[in-house]
Amino acid sequence: ARKGRTPEEVVKRYLQKVRNSPEEDCTICMEALGGPSAYKGPGVASVSRAASVGRLAQCGHLYHLQCLVAMYNNGNKDGSLQCPTCKTIYGVKTGNQSPGKMEYHVIPHSLPGHPDCKTIRIIYNIPPGIQGPEHPNPGTPFTARGFPRHCYLPDNEKGRKVLRMLLVAWDRRLIFSVGTSSTTGESDTVIWNEIHHKTEFGSNLTAHGYPDYGYIDNVLKELKAQGITEDEEQQ
Ligand code: NAD
Ligand code: ZN
Ligand code: ZN
Repeated sequence: ARKGRTPEEVVKRYLQKVRNSPEEDCTICMEALGGPSAYKGPGVASVSRAASVGRLAQCGHLYHLQCLVAMYNNGNKDGSLQCPTCKTIYGVKTGNQSPGKMEYHVIPHSLPGHPDCKTIRIIYNIPPGIQGPEHPNPGTPFTARGFPRHCYLPDNEKGRKVLRMLLVAWDRRLIFSVGTSSTTGESDTVIWNEIHHKTEFGSNLTAHGYPDYGYIDNVLKELKAQGITEDEEQQ
């Protein structure tokens, strides 16, 4: 979406005008907002100097315009922006998950802690490949270990809601990423992104199993931090 807009145009859509020069420092570059941005990287030299400070429209946090453009250029340039202070998301956040498949079905067994319902099993399959420009080492191969990965949700109202939100997260490429596995230390490999999944069915030897009565609320918070809320689950 928003192809053809320059990074400066994307950033400016989310800003309000700032009338008086603020006293505070910019928390991106640590320099005074009243003075110039300390950021001298590529692509920001051309950012307009008039209106050098921007206020993010929803949360009100202030930054140098050049610093916001530099931050946007360092990301995956998907038309969205996330406030580095309070994490408010402007636009639709997407990730860099590599191509693969997400499937799910109901299995006629109950999870520990959810004796009165069946279980949703999600199966993720991601093959190894070559990293794209949105990955840490473009052009380098990445591995994909332990696929298919099976994940479980209770097949009740809340579990089905989480499933619908995970389907949105999948479409936005937010379930997995490419990087270094904190479990195995392997780099250039497919890893879980910041949305926790339960990968153990009948036991809880890994702490990624059931029972876990806080899990649903926790994963709803993690989905929200990626910009996926209960209102947009149907999109
Ligand atoms: P990671 O270790 O970098 O961790 C990223 C996030 O995923 C963390 O929040 C972590 O808590 C969570 N996580 C770690 N292990 C998990 C698990 N088993 N189930 C659910 N969440 C888990 O991420 P990663 O490298 O993608 O995850 C490591 C897991 O991947 C292993 O435990 C295993 O299940 C699987 N894996 C399997 C093989 C294999 O050859 N069979 C190899 C590597 C990884
Ligand atoms: Zn700055
Ligand atoms: Zn903010």
